[in-house]
Amino acid sequence: MSKTFEKLNPYLEKSMAIETALALLSWDMETLAPADSIDYTSKVVGILSGESFSSIVNDEVKDLLKQLNTEKEQTQLSIKEKAIVKNLTKSMEQMEKIPPEEYQAYSELTAKAQNIWVRAKKNNRYEDFAPTLSEMLTYQKKFIGYRQKEDENLYDILLDDYEEGFTTKELDAFFEQLKKTILPLVKKVTAKNDTIDKSFLYRNYDINQQKSFARYIAGYIGFDFNRGVMAESEHPFTTNLHNHDVRITNHYYEDNLESAIFSIIHEGGHAIYEMGVADDLTQTPAGAGMSMGIHESQSRFFENVIGRNPAFWEPIYDKLVSYFPEQLSDISFDHFIRAINKSEPGLIRTEADELTYSLHIMIRYELERALFSDEITVDELPSLWNQKYEEYLGITPPDNTQGVLQDVHWALGSYGYFPSYAIGSAISAQIYYHLCDKMPFEQYLKEGNLTVIREYLKDHLHKYGTTKTTMELLKDMTGEEFNADYYVRYLEEKFTKIYEL
Ligand code: ZN
Repeated sequence: MSKTFEKLNPYLEKSMAIETALALLSWDMETLAPADSIDYTSKVVGILSGESFSSIVNDEVKDLLKQLNTEKEQTQLSIKEKAIVKNLTKSMEQMEKIPPEEYQAYSELTAKAQNIWVRAKKNNRYEDFAPTLSEMLTYQKKFIGYRQKEDENLYDILLDDYEEGFTTKELDAFFEQLKKTILPLVKKVTAKNDTIDKSFLYRNYDINQQKSFARYIAGYIGFDFNRGVMAESEHPFTTNLHNHDVRITNHYYEDNLESAIFSIIHEGGHAIYEMGVADDLTQTPAGAGMSMGIHESQSRFFENVIGRNPAFWEPIYDKLVSYFPEQLSDISFDHFIRAINKSEPGLIRTEADELTYSLHIMIRYELERALFSDEITVDELPSLWNQKYEEYLGITPPDNTQGVLQDVHWALGSYGYFPSYAIGSAISAQIYYHLCDKMPFEQYLKEGNLTVIREYLKDHLHKYGTTKTTMELLKDMTGEEFNADYYVRYLEEKFTKIYEL
């Protein structure tokens, strides 16, 4: 270890400890904490967040990073240390250029924005949220302006924050390709939609039975209960303290079996990724999932590529029926498989099926892109939103609650985040074809043997944490950088078969 890097260690350790405590508090607030605790606990979170910030953003660390970024020092760093220095330098650059008073004002605005959005969404009053959104966008443009290099597109800077290597150039091409291929496919599928019945998934399903099946299936796909726990929350999510403590949540509805099963497989995919990060990387800034896109590629790989595959259900469908004999005894295996793969254009992104999902993302991408290049204004968003839903999905939202106000992201200040979801879906398909080349993939699923698949993902992807970029991970694993052709092929093959097109 280089002498200079060694000096960085105490700062890293302190920051890691505070961040771990914060992760635990935030998990608790979402799952077990009593409702009245929020105000007081928020105070603790506020203080610890400040400590976490100053444990890294300070003159000593800044100096050390400056030295560590010199050519001489770089040659002495290990791969892990290089990744840590790169991550820290990036977040330092993001934060230090913003004047503290502006950052403070923006943080306060963001804290309020979420409440304003919740109320506006509930009351279907976009006009109540629009001024806040507009103010947040002005701040964001200003902040990224501080980091802008000549001629650089503002939105590209945001995109790169979430997904290194993906700019509007790559994403324009990606969505253009989806427009040409997926839109016609959606039309064909929609025309045959009444051939698939899925109403049985909305029968009455006992919540305790759902919970115990969710536990069974999480274990079946490889969620390790010695390193993880499962709880309930309003919206399912995954968080982790380190690779030996990964936590997932689920939400149960009495009249929806599909939601509980596929949410837990999705979160299980996120968790298996975090559990697979190498021991010597966890608890360092290089010890988490590489990016949001890679994370989603893993959750969607488990949820859709594996979880909606007939071969996956072949050995366990009878088990599911045994949990719900009253509701499922009259449902054949084929009927079940077709139902869980039914595609139907809808208004809500989070409820979208595998085929139409990326169209929801495309709409948000086009709007964000136009907002950041000042081609459109905040006031125009609702009508543009509705036009695009009509154009791509053939449906018009009846109100803004189910339209432009549906997602929390813009109220959180997360602009440039949405594309990662679609990138993740596309990557999951690329990985699927690679695995089919490498192993008898479907055969393993039929045998209920997910270990080989999981170990392969761990060895080629999970264990690396953030020491390889998205493109490097893909290139080293599949021999190719990001290639959306696989995604199109996957959707075409799959839905042609299900709908007998
Ligand atoms: Zn996810």
